[in-house]
Amino acid sequence: MANQSCDTLILILGDQLDATNPALVKARRHRDRVLMIECEQESTHVWTHKHRIALFLSAMRHYAQALRDDGWTVEYRDLTNGINDIAQGLADAIKALRPARVCVVQPGEWRLLEDMRVTCRAADIPLEVCEDCHFFVTNDEFASWARGRKQLTMEYFYREQRRRFDVLMDDGEPVGGEWNYDKENRASFGRKGPQGLPTPPAFAPDSTTQAVITTVNERFPNHPGCLDNFAWPVTREEALQALSAFVEQRLPLYGRYQDAMWQGEPFLFHALLASSMNLKLLNPREVIDAAVAAWQSKPDLYPLASVEGFVRQILGWREFIRGIYWQEMPGYKALNHFSHEHPLPEWFWSGNTDMNCLRQTIGDTIRNGYAHHIQRLMIIGNYATLAGLAPTQVCDWFLSVYVDAVEWVELPNTLGMALHGDGGIVGSKPYVASGAYIKRMSNYCNDCRYTTTQRSGEDACPFNALYWDFLHRHRDSLSRTPRMRMVLKNLDRWDRQEIEAIKKRAADHRGAS
Ligand code: SF4
Repeated sequence: MANQSCDTLILILGDQLDATNPALVKARRHRDRVLMIECEQESTHVWTHKHRIALFLSAMRHYAQALRDDGWTVEYRDLTNGINDIAQGLADAIKALRPARVCVVQPGEWRLLEDMRVTCRAADIPLEVCEDCHFFVTNDEFASWARGRKQLTMEYFYREQRRRFDVLMDDGEPVGGEWNYDKENRASFGRKGPQGLPTPPAFAPDSTTQAVITTVNERFPNHPGCLDNFAWPVTREEALQALSAFVEQRLPLYGRYQDAMWQGEPFLFHALLASSMNLKLLNPREVIDAAVAAWQSKPDLYPLASVEGFVRQILGWREFIRGIYWQEMPGYKALNHFSHEHPLPEWFWSGNTDMNCLRQTIGDTIRNGYAHHIQRLMIIGNYATLAGLAPTQVCDWFLSVYVDAVEWVELPNTLGMALHGDGGIVGSKPYVASGAYIKRMSNYCNDCRYTTTQRSGEDACPFNALYWDFLHRHRDSLSRTPRMRMVLKNLDRWDRQEIEAIKKRAADHRGAS
């Protein structure tokens, strides 16, 4: 470690890999230094998937090299330095380099920001936290939008951002006359399954990534996943190729089949860009611009519903979710609206369950470090809510297994949207459904030992009994949600005997899980 003082020590984290990182923009190459830290704890505080570890480490190493090539002095601490956590790495670097100040862009995790503040306070040097310009909406702007609103509704937030940033707008009105084409984004594939499915681009590991793969296999051998199929983009150039491939090949049908699932097809028409955006290899503005430009140049090929659906995910959901995270943390993480405490089943780490939809979805997750949005929401999240799994364990699992998971995006999506564990801060009602929904939207049920036409009995789809049992158990609190009242009325159709059979089936299932 060099024993030389510097002016500003610029700490760059593994999810801050944009060339326009605001901490770099105002720094000076000849006086300031960049610090990047690989540490054990970031891979072990949740039992992180090997693809996620390899993606972060490889992208960090490529980024560090690009900075060096650009004339920066990079103090890069790799895993061989034996640093346990970011705070320790920062404290050691402050001691060695004696900077006048530390500068960092606001991290994507509340815990890390606190650690940095404590570390710099202990070292008695100022910590400058820069606004994260990667996002469209600052935390202050979100707070002022949220102030005074009884319910934070993504749709209204989204419309405001469309107007503000002039995206898909025509003379102050939404193009096509509607703000939201979600109704057109719910098709299933039908009996024949997906047709003309393009193969998503795969990025062969270069020597840097190969070295990372070797390290991950040596240091984290028992972590989930296998790196033989690692092919995620790890540089900006690769991320740009992934963006082009998505826009050219999958965006036209992205919207229509957004909610559809198909066994053996883990990627379908999904964008596969979240990991690149969340590491900041891609900027959300260029991603939106690429989709809108494609629609403008070839409106016959790109349905407005597809492009609007994609824009809504980025300019709407992604920004909304981040605003919620910083507004509600740190208390948000401990919320447990339904007081669910059932432990995460062991088979979440293997997919070894006879429920085929979960076996396939968790299998895809373990194989690829990825499952698409509707698998995460309506298979895994739906099951976790209905089965009453403890939200902290479910959230930790989601954070550990997906390549695109960073806490600011993972936590509100899992706790709020998938589990309704925040009691309605993110979504106005729980996303829960019985087996009939899964049968309609996928072909998983064709290869399952259970049947969706029964609610109780040995062969009944567990989602059915769990669904009605969930509604029955939480009837009082759910009845305060207007959008749930209609479905709760269905409970009145079952006589006492039927309700008891459902409760028994649900209890037996939980007992065996
Ligand atoms: Fe899943 Fe039930 Fe369908 Fe089996 S029958 S795949 S458990 S929804």
